[in-house]
Amino acid sequence: MSSILIVGGSHAGVAAASALRAEGCSGAIKIIAQEPTLPYHRPQLSKEALREEVFDPQPLRVENFYEKNGLVLLRGATASQLHLKDRCVVDANGQCHDYETLILACGASPRKLPEAVDPERRALYLRNFDDLRALKVRLASARSMAVVGGGLIGLEVAAVALVKGVSTTLLEAGERIMQRSVSRSISNYLADRHSANGLDLRLGTTLASIGRQAGGEGDVVVLEGGETLSVDLTVVAIGIAPNDGLARQAGLPVADGILASEQGCTTDPAVFAIGDCAAWLDPVSRRHIRYEAVNPGQEQAKMVAAAIAGRPVPALGVPRYWTHQGAMNLQMAGDVHGVTKEFVLKAPESGAFSVLGFQDDRLVAVQTVNAPRQFMPLYQLIGTDRDHLSAELDWEFPPPHHH
Ligand code: NAD
Repeated sequence: MSSILIVGGSHAGVAAASALRAEGCSGAIKIIAQEPTLPYHRPQLSKEALREEVFDPQPLRVENFYEKNGLVLLRGATASQLHLKDRCVVDANGQCHDYETLILACGASPRKLPEAVDPERRALYLRNFDDLRALKVRLASARSMAVVGGGLIGLEVAAVALVKGVSTTLLEAGERIMQRSVSRSISNYLADRHSANGLDLRLGTTLASIGRQAGGEGDVVVLEGGETLSVDLTVVAIGIAPNDGLARQAGLPVADGILASEQGCTTDPAVFAIGDCAAWLDPVSRRHIRYEAVNPGQEQAKMVAAAIAGRPVPALGVPRYWTHQGAMNLQMAGDVHGVTKEFVLKAPESGAFSVLGFQDDRLVAVQTVNAPRQFMPLYQLIGTDRDHLSAELDWEFPPPHHH
């Protein structure tokens, strides 16, 4: 009977175990999970987990799911070496875990500020439950905060802080917020809304240093231009780096993620890589793409499970993402960077709308604001051309949105 080892108690790792059983794989399946908690939902950590006074992470699966499905879950275990030739992973205690098939779902870690910028390690980062606990303690008594990075985490955290009445300054190095995930029109819309809610948003701004306030508990944040901010805490959310060290040390090709085929197989046919740590070959662009989100990781898990089970492998769908920032609920999908023309479609809910992004006349991206019911029908139309879309939806397109 074949044995499968999964490194990572992540959304992708647990989804893989579940999908393998659903595909009828009956052999031994073991998950090596680094955190001591049951694998849990991570997206809440920068949203409701920060808002609520008392918060326990919501498990991805109930505790007896693992036993009921014959899955061995090793919690608080770290995979520290991978020996491809011997087909074994050695954990931090020196114990060897053999496999016939290995799935690497090792996730990612926050990118840290250079030591020269933050020599005393004052900045707080947010990735796991321990990080959340530390941040909640500091936030509870804070009156002011600096956030470095105007991406998903930075904006979600800033939005919660503003609701709590914490005076918040956000420093974004780029010329617009959420550049990686949304189009310029949505960046501008979000910037306006956050500023109207009291966010002191500084675009094109980086920091020179963080240090301790003289005689105080808080931080002194020095901006590149020389301006100084005195704040109670500093949260840094400047992106992630894939946890690809295990694969790299083993000799697997790695380039901003573990390189894998369009079905997740690495150069070793016994080893697959999924989720935040993996860069899959995109069949259209022929580039390796690393998706940083729950939904593509879970889809990759299902694809890899099908491949291992010897079943037809479904194609990877268009990745979709969501974020909650204050009163704004955003859903987005598709290639926002390939968009050449945008149209705005109002939704029936007040203040709700969708932005349809076209490349030539093909719908390539959809972003909705507070319009959850509009999202999925539009998402399913990604790839459709505009004439067909008008007929299909019986909608009038308003004139292009200018910004
Ligand atoms: P991110 O990539 O979304 O945003 C990082 C931001 O920091 C960018 O806007 C970038 O321009 C900026 N930046 C980079 N270096 C900087 C510097 N030195 N100074 C100032 N700004 C700088 O990353 P994140 O917000 O850190 O999130 C980390 C991960 O968590 C991502 O993979 C993200 O997808 C995931 N996440 C997703 C969600 C969601 O889908 N709703 C929510 C939270 C986190």
